[in-house]
Amino acid sequence: MELNKEHIEQLRTLLAEPQQIVIVSHTNPDGDAVGSSMAWAEALRSMGHTVHCVVPNRYPYFLNWMPQIKDVLIFKDQPEAAKAAIDTADLIFCLDFNDVSRLEILTETLATNTTARRVLIDHHLSPAEGFDLTFSHPDSSSTCFLVYSIIEALLGVEVITRPMAEQLYVGMMTDTGNFAFSFLTPELFRAVAVLLERGIVIPDIHNQVYNAYTAGRARLFGYAINRKMELIHNGRVAYMSLKENEMRRFGFQQGDSEGFVNYPLTIKKVKMSVMFLEHTNFIRVSLRSRGQVDVNLFARRYFNGGGHKNAAGGKSFVSMEETIEHYIRSVEEFAAEGYL
Ligand code: 5GP
Ligand code: MN
Repeated sequence: MELNKEHIEQLRTLLAEPQQIVIVSHTNPDGDAVGSSMAWAEALRSMGHTVHCVVPNRYPYFLNWMPQIKDVLIFKDQPEAAKAAIDTADLIFCLDFNDVSRLEILTETLATNTTARRVLIDHHLSPAEGFDLTFSHPDSSSTCFLVYSIIEALLGVEVITRPMAEQLYVGMMTDTGNFAFSFLTPELFRAVAVLLERGIVIPDIHNQVYNAYTAGRARLFGYAINRKMELIHNGRVAYMSLKENEMRRFGFQQGDSEGFVNYPLTIKKVKMSVMFLEHTNFIRVSLRSRGQVDVNLFARRYFNGGGHKNAAGGKSFVSMEETIEHYIRSVEEFAAEGYL
């Protein structure tokens, strides 16, 4: 991943005078979304700016321990405060998403501020047009690594405090599946080395993020794999589905299904895995793949979504049964065209 030096200078110019800044991130914010937002906010505060972080809805409960996360404004819970911050912003940073539609319930509110300049800092494929400045790096393993690199170029890594290091590490760790997915570059591990110098304790962060679930979540996971996982396309494609009543039975909290979709990929033959999660008005679709199987393309084509080549998402607005039928037909078409 190589930063564009001119873009860094344009960013420096945008930040030359103290600004009212809002950092927004995507719906169902994950460790990378909140980690990169909070660390970038701290870097901007160190330059004298006033900064608010806003997310559309709640982050998962296993991120509650993160430093300063209580200061992140959740639009769904605090619409007035979030709206006030957005209305008065001179500068809006969009982190860890590629299109404002990914803000869902926050999209309209963001559109009401027509004067703020907008900067995109993201690592998803196909960034939207219309930003005043765009840092789009699909070859960065996380937005946290991208933010780290921007801080390094703009201010030097000396400004990174221990809380910022913890925030950045969470996104680097979660978006790479614990340093197991793509784009694991020497630069990424050099960045991790710097974060270690700032005092992060990797096993503590690991435990707080991955070993902090409820017993209900463990049982739901067992149920999903044992009772709901289906293998199709000669055992090479997996899918799972959970309906609201099934989740309720296990005391489901937002974030509990995190990671479920990855598990079928531990089966040697499985190249693509999908999870369908029922919400009140739609079904959230989560896709994962290995190697050359492109779930970003699959999500765009069949589920109005997108993401990365090996991790993507989308939505379905028909029943679970119809969604699964559509999925099975789509897999057949995708395979017939040689993508599977
Ligand atoms: P997850 O399955 O963890 O929710 O999402 C996997 C990846 O796909 C993430 O990078 C996420 O940002 C992206 N993604 C999830 N849902 C959507 C969606 O509805 N639209 C688009 N464009 N990307 C999504
Ligand atoms: Mn990310």
